[in-house]
Amino acid sequence: YSPVHIIGGGLAGSEAAWQLAQAGVPVVIHEMRGSATTDAAGQTTTRGTDAHQTDGLAELVCSNSFRSDDWEFNAVGLLHAEMRRANSLIMACADKHQVPAGGALAVDREGFSQAVTKALTAHPLITLVREEVTSLRDKDWDNVICATGPLTSERLSDVILELTGEGHLSFFDAIAPIVHTDSIDMNIAWRQSRYDKEGPGGDAAAYINCPMTKPEYEAFIDALLDGPKADFKDWEHVPYFDGCLPIEVMAERGRETLRFGPMKPVGLTNPRDPLVKPHAIIQLRQDNALGTLYNMVGFQTKLKHGAQAEVFRMIPGLQNAQFARLGGLHRNTFIQSPKVLDRNLRLKSLPSLRFAGQITGVEGYVESSAIGLLAGRFAAAQAKGETLDAPPETTALGALIAHITGGHLADEKASFQPMNINYGLLPPLEAPKVDENGVKIPLKERGRAKKRLMSLRALRDIDQWLMPQ
Ligand code: FAD
Repeated sequence: YSPVHIIGGGLAGSEAAWQLAQAGVPVVIHEMRGSATTDAAGQTTTRGTDAHQTDGLAELVCSNSFRSDDWEFNAVGLLHAEMRRANSLIMACADKHQVPAGGALAVDREGFSQAVTKALTAHPLITLVREEVTSLRDKDWDNVICATGPLTSERLSDVILELTGEGHLSFFDAIAPIVHTDSIDMNIAWRQSRYDKEGPGGDAAAYINCPMTKPEYEAFIDALLDGPKADFKDWEHVPYFDGCLPIEVMAERGRETLRFGPMKPVGLTNPRDPLVKPHAIIQLRQDNALGTLYNMVGFQTKLKHGAQAEVFRMIPGLQNAQFARLGGLHRNTFIQSPKVLDRNLRLKSLPSLRFAGQITGVEGYVESSAIGLLAGRFAAAQAKGETLDAPPETTALGALIAHITGGHLADEKASFQPMNINYGLLPPLEAPKVDENGVKIPLKERGRAKKRLMSLRALRDIDQWLMPQ
């Protein structure tokens, strides 16, 4: 087979290389860290990134946690389990270099990165080249995976921008929280589009609205202003875009600013109290095709994660909200995958080029590695002249790829934002409401039972997908 070229030896690139080599396909990894470069003063130095500290493959840039390892009740734990079944190098090295962390899978970061580097560089089918890839057009590569991550080098970013079309490579600004729909109290909230105008999919009731009285609004503004904010690190030189200012920044500009912005109470009528105009209204917009997730419109925030859940649960209707993702602010480079990639992670305008990892719009170490695993398998099938369909959406791997390549709403306004794996991305399953004796099962227990059933379904389906054809 002709070699597959992988740009970037981070989490996704390393996993993709391993999957390819295990399938008998030769690989060349091009990693810029550790290559020689000349600085502004003409001195030769070693190339790095703003966040990485070493030249090791699969370096963890921040926390050392792969999050929960509980496959029965936690979606990221389920993703771990599926990846282990798919012979993941990242999971094998994480398991081997585990440090105590309760129910979470945390690793000794140096031992982990060294183990990945050793396994890949010792493999007879893998070649590691230390270089920054700055162009693609002058190469005769016919099977390429770009896994250059959130800190993709500037010169390659320009190339990707050109290939995907202006506006399709997002430099991170801010993200708003996403809520599990079934945790919104619909006895308080109601469905309606502003001025009953048709929303996404031609639906005049496309949005979920949460009303606030004046005292509730004032208390909310106080909590926003007092809440602890995340600090910027040195590498984050993120300019605010006026169109998506964090809500606390808006609140700092004036107590009424939000009432004239994302919380404006106009064009909406509370059906339970049509004569009383709410002082402010928070809108949530459908975030995935299944309708199991809604995002808080205009609520991008840099409040610390712990404070966010507390402050946002002050909103009537969201008092029991479960968050699929909290808001945040940091630099990120990702493509508009739903528009530019096909189901096999290939760039529609240049199918010899696949994308993998955080750059595809997944969020987190495990998710990035998972997309690397899939890209590696797809590229291996291509090298062998075979085809491989994505795993079914009932699996965590399949749900992730469906989210980035099409599960997302086609609505232009529903901007595509990075996402962790969560049960809201998988088609729902209902758990029994009563036990075998006809006794009603409490809601909380039913929620857990539902997750377990979805996990069991996922493992059954991933095993089937992994079976040799
Ligand atoms: P990376 O692991 O970053 O790998 C990309 C590789 O490509 C790098 O080695 C880079 O040097 C190389 N590269 C870039 N451009 C080129 C080029 N032109 N030519 C050759 N090589 C190139 N996720 C978590 O789960 N937990 C966290 O705590 C966490 N903290 C984060 C902190 C920061 C500062 C950032 C930026 C992200 C963080 N993430 C975190 C998000 C994300 O999971 C990680 O960034 C993850 O490493 C992404 O994996 P990846 O393989 O896509 O990219």
